[in-house]
Amino acid sequence: MKNFAGGWFGKLLRINLTDRTSRVEEIDHTVLYKFVGGAALGAKLLYDEVSPGTDPLGPENKLIYAVGPITGTDAPCASRLNLTTKSPLTGTLANSLSGGFFPVEMKWTGLDAIIIEGKAAEPVYVLVRDNKVEIKSAVKYWGLNTQDTQTYLKEDLDDHNIRISCIGPAGENLSLISCIINECRALGRKGVGAVMGSKNLKAIAVRGTKKVPIANQKKFKEIIKEFLKYLGESELVYPVFSKTGSSLAVGATSALGFFPAKNWQDTGVEDLAPHLDSNVFAQYGQTRNRCYRCPVACSQVRMAKTGRYAGISTEGPEYETIYSLGSVLGIKDPAFIIAADRLCDELGLDTISAGVAVGMAMELYERGIFTATDGLELKFGNQEATLTFLRMMAYKEGFAKIFADGTKRAGQAIGNGAGYYAMEVKGLELPAYDVRGAKAHGVNYATAYTGADHNRGYASQEVFGIPIPYPVERLEIKGKGVLAKWNQDFCGCYDVATLCEFPAQMGLMPVAQKLTADLLSGATGCEFTEQGVWQLGERLNNLCRMFNVREGFSRKDDCLPRRLMEEPIKDGLSKGEMISQQDLDFMLDEYYEARGWDKNGIPSAAKLQELGIEDTIKDLPSGS
Ligand code: SF4
Repeated sequence: MKNFAGGWFGKLLRINLTDRTSRVEEIDHTVLYKFVGGAALGAKLLYDEVSPGTDPLGPENKLIYAVGPITGTDAPCASRLNLTTKSPLTGTLANSLSGGFFPVEMKWTGLDAIIIEGKAAEPVYVLVRDNKVEIKSAVKYWGLNTQDTQTYLKEDLDDHNIRISCIGPAGENLSLISCIINECRALGRKGVGAVMGSKNLKAIAVRGTKKVPIANQKKFKEIIKEFLKYLGESELVYPVFSKTGSSLAVGATSALGFFPAKNWQDTGVEDLAPHLDSNVFAQYGQTRNRCYRCPVACSQVRMAKTGRYAGISTEGPEYETIYSLGSVLGIKDPAFIIAADRLCDELGLDTISAGVAVGMAMELYERGIFTATDGLELKFGNQEATLTFLRMMAYKEGFAKIFADGTKRAGQAIGNGAGYYAMEVKGLELPAYDVRGAKAHGVNYATAYTGADHNRGYASQEVFGIPIPYPVERLEIKGKGVLAKWNQDFCGCYDVATLCEFPAQMGLMPVAQKLTADLLSGATGCEFTEQGVWQLGERLNNLCRMFNVREGFSRKDDCLPRRLMEEPIKDGLSKGEMISQQDLDFMLDEYYEARGWDKNGIPSAAKLQELGIEDTIKDLPSGS
């Protein structure tokens, strides 16, 4: 049993919607120490409490909101939470990240985690105000979009500072590409909104007044000072990233020829990217937002000032959305992307999956494979058709219903070779890095425990040329399995610390682990080392892999879309590049070996023992 003197409250709130009960439980200190932070604690709870084969949309699945020991403290960039559940889109463990202010408010209620289980008989929302927990009717809010839900709930509760996490129509209608919105932030990807909808849960509202105890205030303050100093010295963080947000990546990926366009048929280097880069979006700038206690304030609030979308604003669009609602659809109008981003947030649709689903539908339409669109001209570049289609997916209307559960299922439902045009891994639509020109991204997409997820192993070496842990040749396949493992564990460290990854990717990489270890030590009073933090990241990745192994996942699922393995990139600096099955096999072998997994991608008992998750050994497939 480890004791701690700060950081955690050591408590979780369990809410059962079926019988409308709630209770606060102590969390074993050893569990907190071994599975530090929102992602790891959530994964551990899900592993222990959700049996293999559970229907992700059934009452037995759980929604686990979890924060970390430095969430809600004065540490910069630490306002994060992880939502963990079993994904209805992929069947894997799903883990979504969000910043903003909801995470700190949740922490200030005195909780490290909230577990929602069961299913309410009618729409409800959960209200947590410090120690008081209420399950209240949400019948009057059901059907509202995410922004109206928040506005009316705040009004009805007469509390404009209460923080709300909610779903829109897409989650209510169980679209498997729906998300959860916290204020303007998304807990996105993997259909987590549908899990909330399946429980008849419209929203969670939190308000807390408890101060997070800090074990060693003096040390903690010194580390914060050091953190701020490194942020100030970075050539990227304040001079560039603060002003552009993630849209800065458009220039980088298009210059290198791996910014995907038109459902990944093109790179958009010449005709699209110049209209979509950060300088262009800067002209739509209104103001900047920040997560709690973040000096970087990277969130750009953009507004369309003239034309048909005049007056529509959004927090974003982020790089991934510029791709999914812009280049993937052959659209180069920033005002449209602002409007479509706003619409997706209101409907509670994940922008990446929704945009990629529209892109697939457009390609199928143009190729004559799927034309039963009730007269909707689904051609690349058609803005009006896109907005209509997005709305139809959220409500699962007409032909759009086929795409509302993601591209993999759409391909299966349509047949006639349509699956070839589904840009997904394990059912999760691809983010905005064409892996044919960035091979470590390719290994990450193939192996990340959530499906194609850039946040689980971002290769900033290939995008920004950051030479850590060593300089990288992005088109080389040798070494990319090892690098992907390094990146996934690096990202895992951030997930366990529940720290925002952006500053680390923008220049703090050399000191990131040390700062993380020191912050965790200062807050909790437990001793964390740089090496120990690395192990936390590795443990997280192995535990999540074991969740998937227990569900039947293995090497056969670590794949890439056929298009990327058969069609070379057509133009730009990555022209001629692809990842053949042979290339992928080579990188997977290297990756599995670096991980201590067998050739089938199954962790070895020795590795699980080494990482202290020996209780998962019983779930290894027989013969491995
Ligand atoms: S860098 Fe951006 S996303 Fe990260 S904590 Fe700061 S404002 Fe939030």
